[in-house]
Amino acid sequence: MILIVHGGAGSKKPSGRNLRTLSVALSAGFDVLKGGGSALDAVEVAIVVMEDSGLFNAGLGGHLQFDGVKRLDAAVMEGKHLRAGSVIGLEGKKHPVRAARLVMDTPHVMFTDRGARMVASVLEPLPDISGKEIRKLSAIKRRHVEILKLYEEHFSTVGAVALDRYGDLAAGASTGGVAAMLPGRVGDTPVIGAGVYADNASGAVSCTGNGEAILRLSLAKEICMNLKTKSLSRASRHSLKRLLRIGGRAGVIVINRQGRFSIAHSTPYMASGYMNDKTSEVRPSFHR
Ligand code: ASP
Repeated sequence: MILIVHGGAGSKKPSGRNLRTLSVALSAGFDVLKGGGSALDAVEVAIVVMEDSGLFNAGLGGHLQFDGVKRLDAAVMEGKHLRAGSVIGLEGKKHPVRAARLVMDTPHVMFTDRGARMVASVLEPLPDISGKEIRKLSAIKRRHVEILKLYEEHFSTVGAVALDRYGDLAAGASTGGVAAMLPGRVGDTPVIGAGVYADNASGAVSCTGNGEAILRLSLAKEICMNLKTKSLSRASRHSLKRLLRIGGRAGVIVINRQGRFSIAHSTPYMASGYMNDKTSEVRPSFHR
């Protein structure tokens, strides 16, 4: 059994509070695994902790879009039957990852707009947007010329992958997208095969970083495909290099059914960590 989490890849050093929250997320998710829960349950619980914290670009801490509205994306996938669920631009809910899980339990895979809100209607609402968030958006808008740089500073999407005692894999991710993004823009996170993928036959992957490049490469699925012939770290590094060649920087967490894993990023930092029966570690960066 093993659980891996990340709190976004970027150029800013993650704070101590962010790292401590990752530890809390790992403990909460790993408790689920120890209690006989599924990899999918563990991924969901770990991501909920990060969404709740307000410290990451997900859930409570999700970025405001250009028009001052918080629209959040999330996805989950399990590797046994390849079931998946995702929500795009979900408004007014604190735990988009739970909404993605609810979508997975319908006959469908993706919901946006009203459908997403209907599926998520039972979930806890987001509190009102604070004055601090509005001031932050105004400051970001003033720096519009530097927006691309800003995107990289602000990658703090969250994600998790897990292997449970039954040998099943799962992956999940949750985000507020990129800073001050235009309403309607969709990144990689809610797109199955781009931001997340899980298949017991290969592995489970959760990505963060430049969503447009990740989409163009179908990064999570590409890494899973390459796991058939390459080691985890080679498959991750190979795809991160290909991503760099098309102008994207990213971070990935990858796991297989043997419990081997890789944490890799082409950005200076990616707050991340893992927990298994023997050990646990959280760091501001792993291999680059
Ligand atoms: N990949 C996310 C997006 O493009 C951003 C992130 O990872 O922080 O929406």
